[in-house]
Amino acid sequence: MQAKYEFEKKYRDQILRCSSCGFCQAVCPIFALTLRPALNTRGKMLLLKEVMDGQIELSQELADTFYTCTTCQACNYTCPAGVEGSEIIEEVRKELYRDGFAPPPLLGVRDSILKQGNVFASAQEERIEIYPPELREKARTGELKSNAETLLFMGCLPSYMDMKIVPSFIKALDSAQVDYTTLGTQETCCGFPLYLMGSEEFESQAKKLIDKIRATGARELVTPCAGCYKTFTTLYPEIGDLGLEVYHSVQYFEKLLCEGRIKLTGEVVGKVTYHDPCDLGRSCNIFEEPRNILKKIPGLELIEMARNRLDARCCGGGGGMQAYNPEMAVDMAALRVRDALEVGAEIIVSGCSACKDNLRKGARTIPREERGKIKIMDITEMVTDTLA
Ligand code: SF4
Ligand code: SF4
Repeated sequence: MQAKYEFEKKYRDQILRCSSCGFCQAVCPIFALTLRPALNTRGKMLLLKEVMDGQIELSQELADTFYTCTTCQACNYTCPAGVEGSEIIEEVRKELYRDGFAPPPLLGVRDSILKQGNVFASAQEERIEIYPPELREKARTGELKSNAETLLFMGCLPSYMDMKIVPSFIKALDSAQVDYTTLGTQETCCGFPLYLMGSEEFESQAKKLIDKIRATGARELVTPCAGCYKTFTTLYPEIGDLGLEVYHSVQYFEKLLCEGRIKLTGEVVGKVTYHDPCDLGRSCNIFEEPRNILKKIPGLELIEMARNRLDARCCGGGGGMQAYNPEMAVDMAALRVRDALEVGAEIIVSGCSACKDNLRKGARTIPREERGKIKIMDITEMVTDTLA
């Protein structure tokens, strides 16, 4: 029988392999919140079987189900039948997008990226407002180094929405005397949100950025953004060659620590837990580097949440959920904050600005007497706060 849909050509066997065992349900953050079986991978595979049998068509209603997913990949790792739920969902989104069923809030994000170069529809000139004064001035006056060993790529959320990540990141690199430059106001969104919504514009966005990055002649790129890191290392290779080595800040900081170029001597007294961002953990297998950094901080007691590393519960902010259904994203984050409270953590550290943002919002929904003084930080802040 000829496949009617693109997703069918690629994933028909996997979809048919789903035995409805329900193992994926136990790890799905959407199910944990909604208790709606139709929204976990099992439910989605049942719907796709009906689509392939011609019983139902792609529709707005179906789109609501398929865009209600954080693409956290937790289901992929628990499925005994090898069904890659998140990949299938991403593929179906491409088809839904092509057929005009992408949700309007995501189309708004698309337009911001394509017109303004960032997800917030902000001016590109504002991208450098968060730089430390000296670097900001150089970026403003066009005096940034045109060539340097290392290119720093900040990402949209750390640039526009977070007060601490970019200054902390730069302070740590200055302390290690890293020879760096940035794209300044020429930095644009990596295009990850376009990919997640299924937009074919992802490819052209990526190609333009690849050209800009290659033109710097840098030997390596470092980013504090987990989404950018995942995009550069797992999605761009299908499109073009960045021509340099890509590091996430947790990998780079660990390297600087091992080389003795930075030292963490400031004391942190308290119980700290690390939240694995899906885009670093399950996606890129980065689990130990951030923990190795935290273990080097004097006084810091690193404790693990019951669900950690490959089994970590998603904070709820990925997959476009923060734009598509922000209330649901925040409620999922509250569940993750409760995981941390359960083990007595006083600080949650993550390596993803989107996780930090969403977890902070989630924490605020928990009554003060339950959440106590729990703090949520990015690892760049923890490193800078404890630098020798
Ligand atoms: S764990 Fe795999 S086989 Fe079982 S219901 Fe989920 S997707 Fe289907
Ligand atoms: S990718 Fe995550 S949110 Fe989406 S269905 Fe799988 S477990 Fe649920």
